[in-house]
Amino acid sequence: MRRGLLLLCLTAACAPTSRPAEPTASPGSFTTISVVATTDLHGRVEALSWLSGHLQILRELRRADRGGVLLVDAGDMWQGTLESNLSEGQAVVRAYNTLGYDAVAIGNHEFDFGPVGPSTVPRTDADNPTGVIEARAREARFPFLAANLRTRDGRAWTPPNIRPSTVVTVAGVEIGLIGVTTTTTPGATDPRNLVRLQVRPLLEAIVPEAERLRQQGATAIVVLAHAGGRCHTFVDPDDLGNCTAQSEVFQLARALPPGLVDVIAAGHSHQAIAHRVNGVVIVQAFNEGRAFSRADLIVDTRSGRVRTVHISPPQLVCNGRTSQDIDSWAADACRPAPYESRTVRYDDRVATALRADIARAQARREQLLGVTVTTRYWHSSREESPASNLVVDLLRAATPGADVAVYNASGTRADLRPGPVTYGDMYELVPFDSVTATASLTAGTLADALARGLGRGTAPMLSGLEATARCEAGTVRVVLLREGRPMPPETRLSVVTTEFLASGGAGVFEQMQDAFTLQLDRPMREVIIGAVPREAARIVSGLVGGYDTARPRLRLPGPLPLRCP
Ligand SMILES: [Zn+2]
Repeated sequence: MRRGLLLLCLTAACAPTSRPAEPTASPGSFTTISVVATTDLHGRVEALSWLSGHLQILRELRRADRGGVLLVDAGDMWQGTLESNLSEGQAVVRAYNTLGYDAVAIGNHEFDFGPVGPSTVPRTDADNPTGVIEARAREARFPFLAANLRTRDGRAWTPPNIRPSTVVTVAGVEIGLIGVTTTTTPGATDPRNLVRLQVRPLLEAIVPEAERLRQQGATAIVVLAHAGGRCHTFVDPDDLGNCTAQSEVFQLARALPPGLVDVIAAGHSHQAIAHRVNGVVIVQAFNEGRAFSRADLIVDTRSGRVRTVHISPPQLVCNGRTSQDIDSWAADACRPAPYESRTVRYDDRVATALRADIARAQARREQLLGVTVTTRYWHSSREESPASNLVVDLLRAATPGADVAVYNASGTRADLRPGPVTYGDMYELVPFDSVTATASLTAGTLADALARGLGRGTAPMLSGLEATARCEAGTVRVVLLREGRPMPPETRLSVVTTEFLASGGAGVFEQMQDAFTLQLDRPMREVIIGAVPREAARIVSGLVGGYDTARPRLRLPGPLPLRCP
């Protein structure tokens, strides 16, 4: 039956258009369901005021033609801003309740906060590693969907308001919604928060669920996939030449039985798609609330089937501006282009619902740390930089007795701009919640660990010593130096680093976690920020942070990952 429909739709009569025609269908025989999808908001709740303005227009249009709007999100909702992180994502759920979301997928970063409370990973058997996700699900007026997250013994994962799928009725049309997340999820959050779950292949989770929903009467199936792809142009949905063919969501669409799934709302890759693959419409609209996706299901009300799907290109909510430009709650912060020939209005309900979150984040962001820097501390994820040196020097200064601090360049996420340094500035530099870890290591062991990291492409940032790497007999060798003099390998060093590196992240201290003791009382970010006022004078004089290019702390014989012929 579905196959016949697909063949029908290969004819020019129902060929997709990149812009939905208005009116999309004649009243009485067809119903239009506009599927609107967001993804990877990463806490940028301020963008939702403008998204809502677009939604209001679309909802009015669908009311007028007796259709409806389905609003979904493909995951990674809440990790990334003070507005969201200070409440472990409560602000995002409150905003989504305000906008009337119908369902969301759980993405990898939904696991980042771990158990409810300050610790982001379970510390005792009593800690629930998915406590925050479950708490947010209980607050949501829409379900969290996770069909490919199963318990260790293979059952569906079903805490209150979390389930594999759901059915919503929009304008009298039953639509089955299924959520899945990328199979790389355990490596893209702290894997300790996934110990009670297994991530199953997407296809294996979707097919039986979609077949069941169809049998129960669902007219259309929409998959919310926190798995993505990438296309570069959005003029012709059937032109796949500008798309990355091997991406996870494209592989999924190609493997699906024809006619089973109508639309995949994708995510995770922070890119955009508005295309059709193997008869399945895939939409994805960047990240951080910059844009939304739209696919209009045209449903034949007499046969109760989807006749075709109109695909819209990703719609920018703020007329070309980046998420950084929208980071204001002012109603004139952006000027969206007209949408469907109507003026897009700012919806102040989001700001009203989040009044307390915004005030708390603002106060914290503007808190002065008692030092003014006069140059830009630029950052790099690949090499030594003034910003990373500031972080690693502060880490050592904040840790009593530490001889050496080790950090990974990719952990520094922003530049520090000239001017009075605020909490918000430092938060952007080190947004992560992981704690610090200490160990007593010999210089020889530390040198071997650094060599291993360099081979894996990690640039270790160092405080308290310098390192020179070279190739010897086909392997990377690292020599540690203090004040210019090589350090005997048996020298004992008190080392402080991050929980991420200590647990084997980035390959530096691989298989060495037993050597480290975690300092659980505060996240590393708070430890570092707490040291800024105490170290103000040394920051200004350049003894802490900064980068002397004439005397790099790490000397390398070639680019990373370091390969010795
Ligand atoms: Zn993601």
